[in-house]
Amino acid sequence: MLGAASVLTDADETDLYSWDALSPSRIHPGHPIVPVHPLCVCTPASAAEVQTVVGVANEARLPLVPYGGGSGLMGAAASLTPGIVVDLRRLNAVLEVDAIAFTARVQAGVVLEDLEFRLRESGLMLGHDPWTLPVATVGGAVSTNSLGYRGGKYGSMGSQVLGVEAVLPQGELCRTRPVAKSSTGIDLNHLFIGGEGCFGILTEVTLRVFPVPEARSLHAFRFESFTRGFEAVREFFAAGLRPILLDYGDETEDPEGPSILYLGFEGKAELVAAEEGVALAACLERGGERLDDEKARRFWEERHAAARRFAADRSERRRRSAAGVHQDWVHVALPASRVLAFRREAIALAAARGVRFRESGLWTGPELFSLRLSKEGGEPARAELGDAILALLRNVHGFGGSVEYCHGVGVKLAPLMAGEHGDSLELMRSVKRCLDPNGIMNPGKLGL
Ligand SMILES: Cc1cc2nc3c(=O)[nH]c(=O)nc-3n(C[C@H](O)[C@H](O)[C@H](O)COP(=O)(O)OP(=O)(O)OC[C@H]3O[C@@H](n4cnc5c(N)ncnc54)[C@H](O)[C@@H]3O)c2cc1C
Repeated sequence: MLGAASVLTDADETDLYSWDALSPSRIHPGHPIVPVHPLCVCTPASAAEVQTVVGVANEARLPLVPYGGGSGLMGAAASLTPGIVVDLRRLNAVLEVDAIAFTARVQAGVVLEDLEFRLRESGLMLGHDPWTLPVATVGGAVSTNSLGYRGGKYGSMGSQVLGVEAVLPQGELCRTRPVAKSSTGIDLNHLFIGGEGCFGILTEVTLRVFPVPEARSLHAFRFESFTRGFEAVREFFAAGLRPILLDYGDETEDPEGPSILYLGFEGKAELVAAEEGVALAACLERGGERLDDEKARRFWEERHAAARRFAADRSERRRRSAAGVHQDWVHVALPASRVLAFRREAIALAAARGVRFRESGLWTGPELFSLRLSKEGGEPARAELGDAILALLRNVHGFGGSVEYCHGVGVKLAPLMAGEHGDSLELMRSVKRCLDPNGIMNPGKLGL
């Protein structure tokens, strides 16, 4: 129905699609995740072709796994039972750019960096700038409600979605009206924002885009302790500043040691100067030592390097990351008032369990906290690391937080969703059953 060239069945090719970027060392051996070869990979070139594939999958009751750049970190694009992977990357057209309304209507498989290049021709840019800009697709970024640099100013990928076109699990096409704000019922875009392909396949997205800034300032500071820098960050957010770069974290593995803040502002030159003035004063007042701006400039320029390495090294990644040091991290959202207490408890928990504290930090704002832990050794070490991470994440709810702020749920965090959503998980499952009675859309993800 699609033509033979649009259906891959060769095992070497389909193997690459059985998994995403979830590293095996981050999987608890007690909760194994075993990817399987998809039966085939379809590469549709239009929404109508996506509808065709969805129709076939419904008839044969086969699982469908939407696939973008495959850079997700939670196993959300992994194949858990043999089915059809739908690679959306041939849906890669930029359909319309409106430089007056500041919107772009694009097909869902376009890679973020390709869209970024296209927008630059019209003096525009994306408000979403994750590490994986060169790899991730618009559809994947919306479906994980991803967060990037510039998120402190423009919000997550989901907050930039004005409207979508999607193929629902039974094959109907759903279109939402792409407007800045409406008061005409519930916002159906949210079936797909963070939906991990469980409620349908995005074929088109209308995004809010932004003018290329006239000026940018980048700075780096060292603080004597995590707490001192945290206070500065909280202060300038309370003053209403919205940096495009806020990356703050421990300089060494000593949690009591110094921390480094990378900070940047963009926009009209006068506004950037004003924002920068307030932020720099807050940092100096808290004892921040101003470092060479060149350090911050290098940091900014190299922010996509890890993703370029990932893209160059795909077929190797599963094998390499299975060996050696096991490491895992958490990215949790907390009330800013609880971040320091959570950090203290996390450090104590790691020490009590003999797990190595590597670093902690804030990204884009004072509520978004990350922590990296590691453990060397064989399977028992991996299990101990996994236990520590699970204990940490279970603590998050007691602190009034959420267990993940940017990478989604996938299969890795699925067992935590009952604690995360409480009774609302059943509501989500009811919506899923209603739209997808055959249970074919990315089964096993999101804890549904
Ligand atoms: C080195 C590295 C750095 C990273 N940095 C960041 C970062 O800075 N910020 C961040 O938020 N994340 C980051 N990630 C995670 C990842 O890049 C993001 O989650 C990204 O948004 C996923 O996009 P993708 O196109 O690769 O999606 P995929 O991994 O292909 O898919 C992700 C999910 O979306 C679904 N999906 C994909 N396309 C569609 C569609 N068209 N319709 C419906 N569902 C769809 C898939 O089924 C899956 O559930 C990083 C990952 C790596 C490896």
